[in-house]
Amino acid sequence: MTALAAITFDLDDTLWDNQGVMLRTEEGHYGWLLEALSIWRATRQEAPLSLDYEAGVEDYLQRRQQFAKDVPERRGDFTWLRLRALEAQLEAEGLPRSAAILWAAAAMNEFHRLRIQVSPHPEAAGLLSALGERYQLAAITNGNIHLKRQPLAAYFPVAIAAGELLAPKPEHTPFLTALSRLNVTPECAMHVGDSWEEDILPAQQLGMHAVWVSSDQSQALPPRVHRIAHIKELPGILDKLDGSVA
Ligand SMILES: [Mg+2]
Repeated sequence: MTALAAITFDLDDTLWDNQGVMLRTEEGHYGWLLEALSIWRATRQEAPLSLDYEAGVEDYLQRRQQFAKDVPERRGDFTWLRLRALEAQLEAEGLPRSAAILWAAAAMNEFHRLRIQVSPHPEAAGLLSALGERYQLAAITNGNIHLKRQPLAAYFPVAIAAGELLAPKPEHTPFLTALSRLNVTPECAMHVGDSWEEDILPAQQLGMHAVWVSSDQSQALPPRVHRIAHIKELPGILDKLDGSVA
């Protein structure tokens, strides 16, 4: 094979487990919004909003889904969808448009503060640091985590927010954008991710090597695709590939 020059990484559920942080972020930013709004309204002697947490969260979700249908090119831009949904909800609750826009932005600020509180796998930083000596590294995510503020940001000179490119994975655009910014051909690059559909298939179709982080043993692996159960096993795959170069 041609020598490997670059490795691109998915983030969520590849370099850290995402479930806990998403739940805390989801509940935390909306709870924060309702509480901050009620204090603000009380200081202005305005009546509390009629929204309660449960109904509000459900309505917020429905509004996001509706915006994703109405504006399909934005379907992967979760920050945009959340902002529009919160603005619309607050306006429907009677807030003036200017206040709705400000409060929605403040809630998303809180969202991003909570969203970056991920705990990378303990091996991740050392692994990326070592890989960075030998390969160019990039991150490609569909998630709306703040790419410059996430804890492993320093290891990724190139970081692609696929949703904000309006081309979420499995579209090829975010991969091609990363390869172009790294200035490497697909055969000289490897993508590492946990999603078969969003990470592995598109990378393989483009001619990249791919490493699937999964414990699913049932899937047959096409050429150039490898499987590991955890990111810490990646060096073993790279050693094997390097061996096949010689
Ligand atoms: Mg993932």
